[in-house]
Amino acid sequence: MSHHHSHPRSELVFDTHELGRRVGMMKQVRRVAPAPDGIGIDVIGVPPSSGIDLDLRFESVVEGVLVTGTAEVLLRGECVRCLEPVELSDEIDLQELYLYPDKELDDVEASRLEGDQLDLEPVLRDAVVLDLPFAPLCRPDCEGLCSVCGANLNADPEHDHDVGTDPRWAGLVDWTPDHD
Ligand SMILES: [Zn+2]
Ligand SMILES: [Zn+2]
Repeated sequence: MSHHHSHPRSELVFDTHELGRRVGMMKQVRRVAPAPDGIGIDVIGVPPSSGIDLDLRFESVVEGVLVTGTAEVLLRGECVRCLEPVELSDEIDLQELYLYPDKELDDVEASRLEGDQLDLEPVLRDAVVLDLPFAPLCRPDCEGLCSVCGANLNADPEHDHDVGTDPRWAGLVDWTPDHD
């Protein structure tokens, strides 16, 4: 039996053995880990296998191991106004206490070590999703699309429809049904 089998080779799993459960012991880890699938919402998310730049500190405390640090992720999605692709990076702050497996605490939601192994993935997922822009924009003042013809107004700020005189639209005016 081995705890290692539950997370085969995941680069989001860390071994804390060397902290030795001695309060105050610390370990600094920098690692680029491939993003797991499915971190995101409809409009934006972390591309699977893109690099997550982790800068973490593990600190042994009385109840377990305290993780603090940052994760820099690539986000890819589309602008909610003009539907153009959006790509940006986001730095997420992480802080989580992982209880030792034998610690009794009422909080059933608490993260726990499995043996000496610490799985960052669930915490990372939650932190990234909480930090996602729910209405990503290609730029703060994106003009969006023309509600009449769908043209991208960023590319054509003077864009306008004068139905009365524009010959391209004369046909549509004539087409309007006048019976009934
Ligand atoms: Zn846009
Ligand atoms: Zn238009």
